[in-house]
Amino acid sequence: MPPEVGTLAVSFYNQSRTFEQLWTTTEQHILDVVENGKYSHGRKVAELEAALAAYTGARFVVGVNSGTDALVLLLRAAGLRPGEEVVVPAFSFVASASSVVLAGGQPVFADIEPDGYGIDPATLAGAVGERARFVMPTHLFSQLADIDGVLGEARRLGLTVVEDSAEAIGMRRHGTHAGLFGAGGVLSFFPTKTLGAIGDAGAVLTDDPAIAETVDALRHHGRFGATIGDFPAISTTTGLPGFNSKMDDIQAAVLLAKLTRLDGDIARRASLAARYTESLDGVAGVRKTPAIRPDSVFYVYVIEVDSRDDLAAHLSAKGVQTEVYYPTPLHLQPCFADRGYREGDFPNAEQACRHTLALPLYPDMSTDDVEQVSSAVRHFYHGRRI
Ligand SMILES: *Cc1c(COP(=O)(O)O)cnc(C)c1O
Repeated sequence: MPPEVGTLAVSFYNQSRTFEQLWTTTEQHILDVVENGKYSHGRKVAELEAALAAYTGARFVVGVNSGTDALVLLLRAAGLRPGEEVVVPAFSFVASASSVVLAGGQPVFADIEPDGYGIDPATLAGAVGERARFVMPTHLFSQLADIDGVLGEARRLGLTVVEDSAEAIGMRRHGTHAGLFGAGGVLSFFPTKTLGAIGDAGAVLTDDPAIAETVDALRHHGRFGATIGDFPAISTTTGLPGFNSKMDDIQAAVLLAKLTRLDGDIARRASLAARYTESLDGVAGVRKTPAIRPDSVFYVYVIEVDSRDDLAAHLSAKGVQTEVYYPTPLHLQPCFADRGYREGDFPNAEQACRHTLALPLYPDMSTDDVEQVSSAVRHFYHGRRI
């Protein structure tokens, strides 16, 4: 039976049950903020930074107002100078490359691996120009990029590694958390992310005290020595032209509450992902389900399919919301049109843009929801000639 007009069978994202369950803890953190009276760059932000440092093992976590800003500030603090190049995978969220421009640099693109969604280390040497200084691997969807391969090539080519680990909270390799393999990385707390706020927020992760100190200053108008959490803020001197990229304490309050069950959420995501993979196994038209490895953390569940746009329309008609991450490769985005790239330059990135589809995946979903989505996918391909 078709869903009633205006109702969804399975929405792409929803966290109302999570909020209901965590409300007592969340309310307590929010009341702290209200009583403390400092609503931005205050004590809750400092508390969240300490909790995230404990969770990730980073020496320094610096809270800012989005994952995008975290990338801009990280690049600046890591020493990117005007006009220098940063190698970015052609398949990623636009902020991976626009952050480079906003930090004063130039993005140059490289292809992704044929069997994954991370930058292909073998393409790095061909991508770098004379002014290349950094490479920015991204960890997309549920998997770390080939970080050993990237680190090896970066060393050979004299590049510093900064990670777009915006989606990668909880992803670790040999005990090292994403974002800490090179000079630093970021986290995004956009609401749909694995650890999501109720608005925008982000953070920089680094083990380097000089980078942490500069990001700390840049987020607050370039003021060195402004103590977070104090009221009133003790601002000393402005050493750099900076940004206003402070984190809101209300976001920190929500994130502290959600952090208490992050590992449970990650386990729930893994079990829903395994369920999808089982249900979609062998379905003609589904070319690829995501690899499930011991270090996978399912931020989103992305499959590769034939007739992707028709499948998305079919699911939408059944009340199932999906997303395309990402429909256009970065080298073909209009905002980078002046950089001289053409269609065909990065075939793996281009084919990923044509065939990937993200199905709903979040802790509040039920296994019935997964079944409903999977059976709608099976129904679409059943008897179809493709
Ligand atoms: C979400 C995301 C960002 C940006 O984070 P915001 O908090 O939305 O600014 C950057 N890169 C990747 C890969 C992302 O998924």
